[in-house]
Amino acid sequence: MTRTDGDEPALRLRVELVPRPLWGRNLRAVLPRSDWQRLRRWALDRAGERCEPCGLTVAGGRYLICHERWTYDHATRTQTLIGVEIHCGDCDLVTHVGRAGVVGGPLLVGQALRRLAELNGWTPAEALFHYRAARTEWQERSQHPWQQDLTWYDRWVAAHPPRRLS
Ligand SMILES: [Zn+2]
Repeated sequence: MTRTDGDEPALRLRVELVPRPLWGRNLRAVLPRSDWQRLRRWALDRAGERCEPCGLTVAGGRYLICHERWTYDHATRTQTLIGVEIHCGDCDLVTHVGRAGVVGGPLLVGQALRRLAELNGWTPAEALFHYRAARTEWQERSQHPWQQDLTWYDRWVAAHPPRRLS
């Protein structure tokens, strides 16, 4: 499934590096586990228990990752949650290719970039360009503190209220 967010072209897979000051600050970390599981289950059902970038299907959704998508407003220094997307492990590694570098070194980064190129229909040079641009952006974004906007989740809860047992 491909989505467009404003000015960003519809890519199947993107490198999304979280600025250093925001490490560990995410929806999953702040929600009670049961609330997170409810959101993840909803996202899995919406995606048909399938990795949204590559289409890998895992019945029951085991090992699939509920990835949080964010935008960054440079002027207000606000990181805004814009939704969630189901990823398989390999696609998630591409998204967090910075972590791939830490965990597996250049070999794993190379593997991630090949996948990025393949899924987006890019040449290796285009994938490398995208990765380098994301890294430069990450370095800049890591220089200062960020506010966080989680109202996407509040709207989601309002639209999907928990079922009451009565
Ligand atoms: Zn995938």
